[in-house]
Amino acid sequence: MQKLILKGGRVVDPAARRDGEFDVLVEDGRIARIDKSLPVDGADVVEVKPGWIVAPGLIDIHVHLREPGQEHKETIATGTAAAVAGGFTAVACMPNTDPVNDHPGITELILRRAAEAGLARVYPIGAVSLGSCGEQMSELGAQKAAGCVAFTDDGRPVANALLMRRALEYAGMLGVPIVNHCEDPSLKGDGVAHEGFYAARLGLRGIPGIAESIMVERDIALAEMTGAPYHVCHMSARQSLRAVRAAKARGMTNVTCEVAPHHFVLTDEALEKPVRYDTNVKMNPPLRETADRDAMLEGIADGSVDVIATDHAPHHADEKLVEFDRAPFGIVGLETCVPLVFDRLVHAGRVSAARAIELLSTNPARVFRLPGGSLADGASADITILAPDAPITIAAAKLKSKSKNTPFDGWQLRGAVVATIVGGKVVYRNEAL
Ligand SMILES: [Zn+2]
Repeated sequence: MQKLILKGGRVVDPAARRDGEFDVLVEDGRIARIDKSLPVDGADVVEVKPGWIVAPGLIDIHVHLREPGQEHKETIATGTAAAVAGGFTAVACMPNTDPVNDHPGITELILRRAAEAGLARVYPIGAVSLGSCGEQMSELGAQKAAGCVAFTDDGRPVANALLMRRALEYAGMLGVPIVNHCEDPSLKGDGVAHEGFYAARLGLRGIPGIAESIMVERDIALAEMTGAPYHVCHMSARQSLRAVRAAKARGMTNVTCEVAPHHFVLTDEALEKPVRYDTNVKMNPPLRETADRDAMLEGIADGSVDVIATDHAPHHADEKLVEFDRAPFGIVGLETCVPLVFDRLVHAGRVSAARAIELLSTNPARVFRLPGGSLADGASADITILAPDAPITIAAAKLKSKSKNTPFDGWQLRGAVVATIVGGKVVYRNEAL
């Protein structure tokens, strides 16, 4: 029998309401026992230093792996290498590949490549509509059978209300969530940055916050009618949070939402400082104004926000090295998430370490109905070890991701990933710690 023991450290498992000093015994890739001072008894030992956190494996439910079709940006192998370096034992990947993942053949290809890479678990998300064109619905049932865990046309909104209604009805029957990139196309227009002071000053076309929230409100109405699980991805506007809060306040447990680290760390001031027109601060939805950023922080602290997800969106340097208007939207996020969460949320006193784990593991598993999210007896041993106090400097050039498009290059933060364990196998070890 393969035995591994994690000796020492603080086990934080919100799902099991466990937070304290324990050892963790893994047998044949599964959690066998969690207790004080377990005997080593011939097991391989992972020494966990005092102050380090042993958490259920982190899960990122919003990742663009780019394969098939855009392998110059990222592949499933490089994307999952970035995932485990960032502490994620599992990722859910968006269907806006080339071709779009609207067919079981593509889902199967993704799963096969992920198995070959042997790093993080990969859960494909299927397209709501064929080609994500917003017209004809994909075969959701066949896609679920092939392994899709949710449906979205991310990159684009499901703009047609009838299509959204039907998708919710089908997905509701299948018991999987519909995830929407909320953005009213007419209000977004050809905007490239948040509509506000900085966009006006820099002469950039604006995207108002209500371009997002108006669709969040429509979707909540449809989710209320259908009762189906519905998830708002990369929420950025304070008006959207208000709509989600109101839905939850009237008892809608089928509505959930996520926020990306850049939306609780940065504001549209980054369009100007430290560098003007830096295309690494161009993402969709855009960095919004201070009131929106503060609303996201509040929602994260008070429980209105369910999940932190990165919207990891790799782009080749050549693609980003153009005028702001012409650059593609998006930044890489897998390897900067843990330091940003610990530095800006936990050390800033906004949330506890346990709440951070809930946002990064417990809740992503719950919202997408995935295995994992807890160190339960007999569960697959997907574990992330964190050094919450370790100082780190983000170095874009050293990222495992094939793309380096991050606005956080050179940032000094506190909070690092020590090791990532998937199915009892150590797939990442930070040699600096
Ligand atoms: Zn999106």
